[in-house]
Amino acid sequence: MALLDGKTGIVFGVANKRSIAWAIAQALAREGMRLAFTYQGERLKDGVEGLTSSIPGAIALPCDVTNDAEVDAVYAAIDKEFGKLDAVLHSVAYAPKEDLENDFVKTSRDGFKLAHDISAYSLVVVTRGALPLFEKSGGGSVLTMTYHGAVKAVEGYNVMGVAKASLEASMRYLAANLGPQNVRVNALSAGPVNTLAARGIKGFTTMLKHHAEKAPLRRNVELEEVGNAGMFLLSPWASGITGEVTYVDCGYNIVGL
Ligand code: NAD
Repeated sequence: MALLDGKTGIVFGVANKRSIAWAIAQALAREGMRLAFTYQGERLKDGVEGLTSSIPGAIALPCDVTNDAEVDAVYAAIDKEFGKLDAVLHSVAYAPKEDLENDFVKTSRDGFKLAHDISAYSLVVVTRGALPLFEKSGGGSVLTMTYHGAVKAVEGYNVMGVAKASLEASMRYLAANLGPQNVRVNALSAGPVNTLAARGIKGFTTMLKHHAEKAPLRRNVELEEVGNAGMFLLSPWASGITGEVTYVDCGYNIVGL
């Protein structure tokens, strides 16, 4: 019997095969979890359905996380299809390109709001929506994706770093709030990985090179490593862990000089 046989989960944030969400989903599916996926609008529908068709029993649903009605529709569909839920993966972030590229002091009000709405507040929305289905499972586990730019000023990360700080704090408040319902909420802080979202960050190639040179393991993290660690945090093996930020970055964050 596989580790996650009989478990069900939903994955927010697959855009393509390089997505971190896809790496974690593959590890969850490998261990036997039945999965639902969401895609952000028609533009991504065919690509995401193409990927998820390789996973037995998977379903794909549209969901823009800024739209409460779409989030509600996703959970209604899962209730119908799965009847319960054990895991939620939140792997969603966005900030306008100009707000990432400009000097931080020039961050626009609208860009600041949008980055926080999509990248931080959406964790609260997708967690709240899952609660009735978690209750049917006797509890649940939520995982969100973060980056070290939440706690240190990283050149080029700008408003996304501020949104990640809000995301990490939201994760802790959710964990404190929902622990009594046996719902765990954690964050995985990944080292830089070359994905669609990462390409929006100015100087990303330099960032990759710097991490590989300075990290104790002297390399960048592989998608598969993030996938396995994410799977662990969402699984019953991590049953005693909640409210934590777990770094999967080849040790980069522990280095001072
Ligand atoms: P990605 O582009 O593959 O994934 C980002 C996802 O966010 C996409 O699927 C996109 O459709 C979704 N998204 C954006 N706005 C949305 C909206 N309004 N509604 C629904 N979905 C929306 O890139 P990724 O690197 O896999 O990013 C996934 C997560 O990992 C993000 O939170 C990112 O900040 C985080 N992260 C990435 C890195 C990295 O180096 N790539 C490092 C640490 C953390």
